[in-house]
Amino acid sequence: MSGLWRGSLQPRVCGHWIGAERRHCLAVEGVREYLTGLRCPLHTPSALQNKDEPRPSLPAAARAVRPHQRE
Ligand SMILES: [Zn+2]
Repeated sequence: MSGLWRGSLQPRVCGHWIGAERRHCLAVEGVREYLTGLRCPLHTPSALQNKDEPRPSLPAAARAVRPHQRE
C-alpha cells in the first residue's frame, strides 16, 4: 500500500516487445517511464536506436529479423 500506483494495477516492468523472442521484456530492475511507456535500461528509446532490436512499428516481414539471444 505505497500509494504510488495511481489507478494502475500493472506492475512496473519493461513493456518492450522482443519480436525475435515473441515476448515482452518484463524486466523489473531499473525500469523508468518514457514516452513509449515503462522501459528497462536495455530498452530505452535511445538505447533501441543504437541496437538491432526489431521495432514494433515495423511489420516483422518488412525486414530480416535475426533471432538472437542477448543475455
Ligand atoms: Zn526491457
